[in-house]
Amino acid sequence: MITIPKKLKTRFNVGQFMAKGLLSTRHPLLAHIVPMRRCNLACAYCNEYDNYSDPVPTEEMFARVDRLGYFGTGIVTISGGEPLMHPDLDKIIARVRSHGMISGLISNGYLMSPDRIKRLNAAGLQYLQISIDNVEPDEVSKKSLKVLDKKLRHLAEHADFNVNINSVIGGGIKNPEDALVVARRAVELGFTSSMGIIHDGTGTLKSLTDREMAVFQEHKKLGKRGYTRVNHFQNNLAYGKPNNWRCRAGGRYLYVCEEGLVHYCSQQRGYPAIPIREYTLDDISREYDTKKACAPLCTIACVQQVAVFDFWRDPQTLEGVGHPARPRGHDRGEAIDGVTDMP
Ligand code: SF4
Ligand code: SF4
Repeated sequence: MITIPKKLKTRFNVGQFMAKGLLSTRHPLLAHIVPMRRCNLACAYCNEYDNYSDPVPTEEMFARVDRLGYFGTGIVTISGGEPLMHPDLDKIIARVRSHGMISGLISNGYLMSPDRIKRLNAAGLQYLQISIDNVEPDEVSKKSLKVLDKKLRHLAEHADFNVNINSVIGGGIKNPEDALVVARRAVELGFTSSMGIIHDGTGTLKSLTDREMAVFQEHKKLGKRGYTRVNHFQNNLAYGKPNNWRCRAGGRYLYVCEEGLVHYCSQQRGYPAIPIREYTLDDISREYDTKKACAPLCTIACVQQVAVFDFWRDPQTLEGVGHPARPRGHDRGEAIDGVTDMP
């Protein structure tokens, strides 16, 4: 019997995902779901972790995943905290796959070992993203190439799934050139790489400095394998320009926190804050049509990328109430999802 390589199957799944996404607007394209708020690291800029909480019970996670399956969600990316700390992560990934949804994972990579990677293969994981912030660990972040390079080599050797390495510039990151070192290493190991631009701590949009801009431009030259396809949002942000786009969070993108509530995104928690188990197609339609005042300054690449599916249709007619005009906090400019580097 001929065995079809897993990455080829994933390409087929992505083709189905894109066709369905273009044909219908009544389902989420991407959901981030948090099984564990706890993290084994404590990055100084992060507002998405704690150091004490328990894993969400597995049966509860299954119920949330099943609800996403009921909606016909395209991609489910498991994030945290650090999701590898959840004792039943593999079962949750397998549950995602059982609904035919594309499975993704965001991890800091610290707990990756050859055995752990093989178990992720067996569970059916299709995309992994690891964010690396610097070359040497410092007081802000220990997500460093020096610490993680061995883990990346394990992934290059054993992973059947696609791996994307995300690095960041802007927001006062000390050595912007580190992002380029990280990206080059990613490409060298056969991974894709993406580069996120982050705001400063107040959410203020500033153009990149000359030094940062040189890094940003150089990253583009890494070629097809190493450059995020949908990049015009990042281009505008690099030059300090707001983006004119329709954020479809709450409709085409869902962020499901550890309490099982649907929020617009990691930086707009509190809206609409409805339990996923009670979320309905009407909620999806309403949020699809709702303007988000924070959109012009948003740096959340994955939500921008899913918005591309619908940018040409359905102007938003409902005014958003309550949520602030700026994205809150100091987000990581994550490009994490299966969309960023789709084949
Ligand atoms: S950025 Fe990631 S690794 Fe760092 S504390 Fe937050 S969740 Fe943990
Ligand atoms: S911060 Fe970005 S992704 Fe989140 S709701 Fe605002 S525009 Fe949408």
